[in-house]
Amino acid sequence: MGCSEVDVLVIYPQDPIDQMAYMVMYGKHYGETQIDPFLAAHFERVTKIYQDSEVEVRFNVVGSQQVDLSGIGASDWMVQLRLALMNTPVTNPAYTPYIEAVEELRSTHGADIVVYWRMLDDGAPAVSGAGSIGGGADEAYVVLSHRMMRPISAAHELGHLLGGQHGDGVQLVTGVMINGGAVAAREIRTVMTSATNLGFGDALHVWRFSGANATLQGDVNCAWLLDNADTCTLVPPAIRLGDVDHDTVSNLRAMAPIVAAFRGAPRHATPTPSPTPSPTPSPTADCNGEPETSRCWGVREYWGADRPAT
Ligand SMILES: [Zn+2]
Repeated sequence: MGCSEVDVLVIYPQDPIDQMAYMVMYGKHYGETQIDPFLAAHFERVTKIYQDSEVEVRFNVVGSQQVDLSGIGASDWMVQLRLALMNTPVTNPAYTPYIEAVEELRSTHGADIVVYWRMLDDGAPAVSGAGSIGGGADEAYVVLSHRMMRPISAAHELGHLLGGQHGDGVQLVTGVMINGGAVAAREIRTVMTSATNLGFGDALHVWRFSGANATLQGDVNCAWLLDNADTCTLVPPAIRLGDVDHDTVSNLRAMAPIVAAFRGAPRHATPTPSPTPSPTPSPTADCNGEPETSRCWGVREYWGADRPAT
């Protein structure tokens, strides 16, 4: 399989300078102060989480745009927009104008999915979420709050769109050094895991999805729930990050080409297998955009408790 290229449109509700201010203030901007370079750097890291988990997908930001949907008529349009995106497919007619407005932008940019990067204080509870688990093209929405605009949270919500579920994740306790500190027993979790703590302090999320054959050792990016990435060093031996009953990777691999084709054909067609090995195979673009000849190494839910009644 080639690399699935998922085109992402990011919409946000205020001036881009203001939108970036929170990220800059808390040092979550990767050194970027302009919104487009920031988003490129952000989704580069999201892509890395997938590729390091051996899921051949790349998330490309094809557009970012400030939106003002106050013209629809609601004074709390930011709340309505969030509710509309989180309650798909839409059955409440009040949400329809919001979805239509978003879809118009989505078509303009040819985006497979839309991420609504919401404001910190928009009047709605500060939660993030995906439109659905493994949903269709009319449910391909993700809402991210400022606090959740970080690689592991974005990877988690996008993971829902690609069929990932909390119960497929892994949590376990192992010896970990954080940023070269002392080894201590820590709870680590894969990206999709949402569960009760095991009693070893706050869990560390590693930049990996669970997989039937996934293992992990040595250094890996990791993060507390709300902080930036740190480096976790796992002491030997290697740990398993899944089994046949805890396998997010298989779902992601199956869904990635489907989501990549939500709007238009995937930009990298799957090469037709050659009946005999070619001595000089044609290079195909991999997930990093580099020529390569073999492979790319590449619920709807809330990180909070305010799931609205539907
Ligand atoms: Zn979730």
